[in-house]
Amino acid sequence: MTKKKLKKEVKDLRNLEDNWDAYSAYPITKVSIEGANYIIDLVPRESLSANPCVVPLNDGSINLEFAKDSKELELETDGEQIIYLKCEKVKDKDELCEEGYLQFDDKEFLKKFYKFFEWLGVKRYPCPKCNIGETYDANAGGMFCSDIRCDNPECNYSYSDL
Ligand SMILES: [Zn+2]
Repeated sequence: MTKKKLKKEVKDLRNLEDNWDAYSAYPITKVSIEGANYIIDLVPRESLSANPCVVPLNDGSINLEFAKDSKELELETDGEQIIYLKCEKVKDKDELCEEGYLQFDDKEFLKKFYKFFEWLGVKRYPCPKCNIGETYDANAGGMFCSDIRCDNPECNYSYSDL
């Protein structure tokens, strides 16, 4: 999965019309789509291997779901805030879940946002140069060498031993 593919899935939700679920669902709102795209921009790259999934909701908002090992993270957005749900399967017990809100204009938004992914067990590799983007290996899968770059298009950080 790539961020581009996830955004394509979000974009395609624009085509859902009134009553798309046959139970009086609302069309997906433009602000929900903007909110979902914003979240996709921010999620750590490593979370793309945590089975990300885009789910439309009948009130016109969008749910982004991630799953890793015994944990599931759901980030639902209407464009103004995130309603989060963290669930963990615990051996021999009922699922442990925690639900709450995170406003996009929260002063500590990013800090709280990345806590969700720490909890999920997904690492983030902040760029040492711009601190906005995240580094990745453009030569991933290639043997012996790495070609580290930043995913912020405005940042030219690179480190290579090619
Ligand atoms: Zn950078």
